[in-house]
Amino acid sequence: MLITTDYLVVGAGASGLAFVDALVAEADVEVTLIDRRRAPGGHWLHAYPFVRLHSPSAYYGVNSLPLGEDRIDQVGENTGYYERATGEEVRDYFGLAASRLTRTGQVRILTEHEHVGQRADTEQLRDLRTGLLHDVSVHRKVVDARYLEASVPATHAPAFAIASDARVVPINDLPAAARSASCYTVLGSGKTAVDACTWLLDNDVEPERIRWVRPRDAWFHHRADFQPLEQVGAIMAGLSLDAEAGAQAEDVDDLFERLEASGRLVRIDRSRPATMYRGTMLSGRELDALRQIEDVVRLGHVRRIESDRIVLEQGEARTGPEILHVDCTALGLRNAPATPIFQPGRIVLQQVRHNTPPFNAALLGLVEAHRDDDAEKNKLCPPNPYASSIHDWPQMMSRTWRTEQRWLSEPDIVTWLAESRLNLLRALPDHLADPLVQMATQRFLTHVGAAIERLEQIDESGSSDAARAVHA
Ligand SMILES: Cc1cc2nc3c(=O)[nH]c(=O)nc-3n(C[C@H](O)[C@H](O)[C@H](O)COP(=O)(O)OP(=O)(O)OC[C@H]3O[C@@H](n4cnc5c(N)ncnc54)[C@H](O)[C@@H]3O)c2cc1C
Repeated sequence: MLITTDYLVVGAGASGLAFVDALVAEADVEVTLIDRRRAPGGHWLHAYPFVRLHSPSAYYGVNSLPLGEDRIDQVGENTGYYERATGEEVRDYFGLAASRLTRTGQVRILTEHEHVGQRADTEQLRDLRTGLLHDVSVHRKVVDARYLEASVPATHAPAFAIASDARVVPINDLPAAARSASCYTVLGSGKTAVDACTWLLDNDVEPERIRWVRPRDAWFHHRADFQPLEQVGAIMAGLSLDAEAGAQAEDVDDLFERLEASGRLVRIDRSRPATMYRGTMLSGRELDALRQIEDVVRLGHVRRIESDRIVLEQGEARTGPEILHVDCTALGLRNAPATPIFQPGRIVLQQVRHNTPPFNAALLGLVEAHRDDDAEKNKLCPPNPYASSIHDWPQMMSRTWRTEQRWLSEPDIVTWLAESRLNLLRALPDHLADPLVQMATQRFLTHVGAAIERLEQIDESGSSDAARAVHA
């Protein structure tokens, strides 16, 4: 079978869907969106039962369809903040977004289809249900919406060996397996491990029964600083603190001291150096709960789990049959190196503004729809890789701010930013009469130019062997 299409988009996760949604809203084109999974939604199809978005639903998803109702939660750890969808809600939402796209008549979605590669002038797909290969003739571009494909616990292979009699489960199986254990060892430093620890504490497991194996300590944002709409002033205040710290920092250590002193970033254990930064956020209540866990193993990455011991890079820890090990070591966001986003015949979806994957994918759809010249598009949308360590922060922020300055001289982008639900700063103009917002905006504008210069210098001096070693 030969399929013809203007765009072949590989990957129907949040990025692929947000890109296609923005593209077909702006251009009269035909799109074929494929995914090897059984439905659109990407890694959310394998999410653990108690996962939620870590950011508000208000600016997650695709541009044309709201997620949730912009409610402010009145109970629970998210009290006072904008609602955050559960994994199930995100899955349903992407299912709905996909059927709306199909109904435009411009989009064909093929699930359980895998992109195999290129053959002569056509792209090849394999129908995973039949094994048959199909050719696709692409008139415009192949869009790689899986370059930053997420790695999640349910589907990744742990990077450590597990003895047959050791009890190790992915976080997805924690609720079912929890009753059969008396103690728990949570493996991993990131947000998934945070969720596992929080779930245990919320389910009345005493902190003394939880051990946390953390190869690195992490920095987190406070959720209060990422609230949109009526609370958008907090985002501006946070960004102004970033800019001030960036403009004044001597080096990376000094930068993070400033960010912590201003309350912009928090770490669980204030007495330990933290080297990891993944852009995730916590509430004050989550932070207080996590601080109760005192049995923290800091001996590097796990190499092997045996029935009675955990072998790590820098030592061993005792374990036993009564202990359930919870694997939270999947990488999550992929740290692929930057590559030009707009290439001949190809678009490689990546981050442009930091920490906002659906926003970026949608912006790339808009830019693709309204410009012909790849050099111009790349200037407006340079890639900005996901951060993993504190040494990535200077480049991540300076790239964001330099790029945002370029957007300001592009009327179509300015208009889109003012209207897009995915833009977390969308409501800022409505709050400029608020003296606190005025102060934050003024502070940001005072420091951002110097911050860009300073952070670029720190980034260059920080890309030493030592910094790379920490990064690795
Ligand atoms: C647990 C978790 C929570 C998160 N919460 C938030 C949040 O609150 N806010 C936020 O902004 N971001 C969040 N993120 C980050 C990011 O927004 C999401 O991970 C987002 O869903 C990523 O979507 P994606 O499309 O880039 O990747 P994926 O969801 O991984 O989608 C890639 C798709 O490509 C498909 N694919 C790969 N290769 C092929 C091939 N050869 N042929 C066909 N298909 C292929 C895969 O099957 C997959 O479905 C979170 C991430 C995780 C892991």
